[in-house]
Amino acid sequence: MNPILSTHKVRAFESISHFDISTDVLVCGYGGAGAAAALEAVTLGAKVTILERASAGGGSTALSSCEMYLGGSGGTALQKELGLEDSTENMLAYLREALGPYGDEDKMRCYAQGAAGHFDWVESLGVPYKRAAFLERTVVPLSDESLLFTGNEKAHPFNTIAKPVPRGHVPSKVGDEGGKIFMDAIMQRIAGAGAEVINDCRAIALLVDKNNRVCGVIAKRDNREIAIRATRGVVLATGGFVMNDTMTRQYMPDLLEYCIPYGNTFDMGDGIQLGQAVGGQTINMEQAFMSFPLYPPAKLTYGILLNKHGQRYINEDAYLARLAHYSCQQAEQKFYLLVQEEDFEASHYLQRAAIVATGDSIAEVASEAPFPAGTLEQTVSYFNQHASNKQDPLFHKTAEWLKPLNKPPFALLEYSASEMTAVIMPGTKGPLIFTLGGLKTLTTGEVVNLDNEIISGLYAAGRATAGLPRTAKGYASGMSVGDATFFGRLAGRSAAKHLAI
Ligand SMILES: Cc1cc2nc3c(=O)[nH]c(=O)nc-3n(C[C@H](O)[C@H](O)[C@H](O)COP(=O)(O)OP(=O)(O)OC[C@H]3O[C@@H](n4cnc5c(N)ncnc54)[C@H](O)[C@@H]3O)c2cc1C
Repeated sequence: MNPILSTHKVRAFESISHFDISTDVLVCGYGGAGAAAALEAVTLGAKVTILERASAGGGSTALSSCEMYLGGSGGTALQKELGLEDSTENMLAYLREALGPYGDEDKMRCYAQGAAGHFDWVESLGVPYKRAAFLERTVVPLSDESLLFTGNEKAHPFNTIAKPVPRGHVPSKVGDEGGKIFMDAIMQRIAGAGAEVINDCRAIALLVDKNNRVCGVIAKRDNREIAIRATRGVVLATGGFVMNDTMTRQYMPDLLEYCIPYGNTFDMGDGIQLGQAVGGQTINMEQAFMSFPLYPPAKLTYGILLNKHGQRYINEDAYLARLAHYSCQQAEQKFYLLVQEEDFEASHYLQRAAIVATGDSIAEVASEAPFPAGTLEQTVSYFNQHASNKQDPLFHKTAEWLKPLNKPPFALLEYSASEMTAVIMPGTKGPLIFTLGGLKTLTTGEVVNLDNEIISGLYAAGRATAGLPRTAKGYASGMSVGDATFFGRLAGRSAAKHLAI
């Protein structure tokens, strides 16, 4: 094992003379990953204690829509009942394209193989899923359907690599309360199963014995330190680090210049730092989910996105995180949408964008637009020439969203990072982000050190780890809660089965 890197978050187990609590599996963080780990461990007969820094469990998972990205194995029960088929290889092909070199092959395969079974498990908790799909281009259905496309499945290049299948599974209820529905259901199960939950209690140090095994935690409760012994293992499920200014400045200084942290107050990277303190390896720390929720309304997808040079840079039918990724790679993070009146309606998730140019002809728009002379006319002329044949030789927007921009009036809207305000975050400017880096784990949830050796007794899941989702470029809604709960269960299972000390 590597030498311990930091001492203030790790203490010698042998130095503790009195333990306030003794348990088999200690779970730090009571969001989606922690709850899944705890339920799995308690179901296997382990004594489980959960520490939660906030006054109640839920975390970002409860704030979320609880879309879970599930499929494979011929289809989930929900997909199958809607007549949809999804093979494991098809899902894996999609994941490989989505995550590219950042992806963890073992995790992708394990997830694709187990995702349909995971749906059965979630449903068995009493989470309601209506056998109905919402197939319009949207972020989350505000009606009560439970299945939708939540990624780039229908967009290029994904549609050339894998058969498009909707994989976003969302609890059924009118409105957007999926996360609360899921967390209420699982917390009720956990309470019934007898796990102990201690709220307002922050894990602050790991206990490591002379054999380098993690065997407990020091936590702060009521401004007093308590020592907790964990005979089988400690599961770190404390979420990401997007709210930790020091960490975001260290790992993603560029993104911070134009993006807005988005999550719960305690996305402070506590678990990541605890893991690092005992030699845990961190990976993917510079990567984040990013959001440019141009749609709904879906019809804005008929417009074309342009950079400050008046040139297109992406197929506009991509998922909102891919739109954000490529848009923010444009010079000065400046980007605009050219749209004709029949396709215009304000974005539902963004405050009204500034109209920087209008006109009854493209030339008139160009005369007011902040682009080099002639570029807008050339871009639109080339686009229209091919769109009228349902083709997009440059970016391969699908035929469904291709039509020439030839029905005036036209408007050019500015969505640049410096101008974009999410409806949910008034008073801020920039795409919303949360982190996708963290402790490196195996599919078992075991945390590894810098030599890729397992740190005995230490497990992690959710955004405290680098899990399934690794980049905004290939993110799909549901990859995070799906990953946190799926690998949370595996971490809980591993900890429960670990030989007790
Ligand atoms: C508004 C919103 C909507 C989203 N919608 C979706 C979606 O539909 N689908 C999707 O896949 N992803 C979605 N995401 C992302 C997703 O919700 C999170 O990435 C995921 O839920 C993280 O799960 P987690 O268990 O790792 O962390 P969390 O659910 O945040 O749980 C971590 C818990 O640990 C606690 N904690 C922190 N530090 C300590 C400590 N030192 N000691 C004890 N406890 C501690 C926290 O208080 C928190 O309760 C959304 C995010 C937001 C903010």
